[in-house]
Amino acid sequence: MNYDVHKIRSYFPVLKQEVYGKPLIYFDNAASTQKPVQVLMALERLQNDYYGNIHRAAHYMADKATEEFEAVRDKVQQFINAESREEIIFTKGTTESANLVAASFGEQFLKPGSEIIVSEMEHHSNIVPWQINALRKGAKIVKLPVSESGELQTGLLPELISSKTKLIAVAHVSNVLGTVNPVAQIIETAHKRNVPVFVDGAQAVQHIPVDVQELDADFYAFSAHKMYGTNGVGVLYGKRKWLEQMPPYQGGGEMIAEVSFEKTTFSEIPFKFEAGTPNITGVIAFGAAIDLLQETGVENISAWEQELLTYATSQLKAMEGLRIYGEAPKKSGVISFNIAGIHPFDLGALLDKTGVAVRTGHHCADPLMKHYDIPGTVRASFGMYNTKEEIDRFMQALKKVVQMLA
Ligand code: PLP
Repeated sequence: MNYDVHKIRSYFPVLKQEVYGKPLIYFDNAASTQKPVQVLMALERLQNDYYGNIHRAAHYMADKATEEFEAVRDKVQQFINAESREEIIFTKGTTESANLVAASFGEQFLKPGSEIIVSEMEHHSNIVPWQINALRKGAKIVKLPVSESGELQTGLLPELISSKTKLIAVAHVSNVLGTVNPVAQIIETAHKRNVPVFVDGAQAVQHIPVDVQELDADFYAFSAHKMYGTNGVGVLYGKRKWLEQMPPYQGGGEMIAEVSFEKTTFSEIPFKFEAGTPNITGVIAFGAAIDLLQETGVENISAWEQELLTYATSQLKAMEGLRIYGEAPKKSGVISFNIAGIHPFDLGALLDKTGVAVRTGHHCADPLMKHYDIPGTVRASFGMYNTKEEIDRFMQALKKVVQMLA
């Protein structure tokens, strides 16, 4: 395969690090990715050359910052193929995007007795906001269950959807199982019953090409820091027809048309949902991350990560007592596993001492842990810069650690 991973690695200075005297192997990309020089340079350029608060000033610095900030909205629109730039709202991250929809859509559309269908494999950030707002409105959460292999039981959807169903919330890709959910099919089923779908794309956009119009998603959320940008920046895509009906999420500067003590009128979308000064530097640097993803080609990254997934999975499966959670035929480069008789935290802590960064614990997915009746897993998650050599070193380290703990 013609994928120059060494060129890509050269963009990420941090990967040359040693930890505890060992070369860093960073397999915690589902939690957050490392940042390339393009992003670091964009951050520095903005701070050094043209920093100013956006949208409301009549001077060069603010104009230039505004121009660059708004150009990233166009980039995001194009990246996910949204119909219009006004459907792209900048948030702090996927969590805030979910909270925005839960609060605002919830305020407008939930009534006592309404139901929201939420999948069992969701990250807490796609469960708790719905619960909080369901409680406020006297609505109820209905679970879409997961099978043993880690797939959503979408066949149950026609039964679960009723006249009370107001929305379905589902991840495009599970952060624990790696399962790529059939969101297009879920959306089609939901739309037949006029139910909108909120898709959590936090683990998808950096790994698989996403076209929100082709999916026909009503809402789609993701975080820049998981796609080689900085933390504190996220996106909420929403179809115009929903966003225009939804009340503001937060009040403040920028989101208003006119304010008096008697009455306030609000801006049009997207500004209606962007109260206050946003993460100007983070958004502009996010543009550089999107450029890198597009230059490399998300489909090429996807193919590369599939090679890594297959390579690592076959070696892990050969280990005695090892169970992988999530064996769906369509998976992204996330492998959660446990080894019989060893606590995942002990494995993670000792792997760390060999330079391997993996995540251990419940991965903010308690209901899924309860489903499998486990306290947590070890999770290795790959990014565009990982290599098969790193997997070889990880496997050697893992075998050594298991011997020590056995
Ligand atoms: N959804 C999924 C599937 C995730 O993996 C994560 C983070 O790990 C989130 C949502 C929350 O993202 P953030 O913390 O960037 O808001």
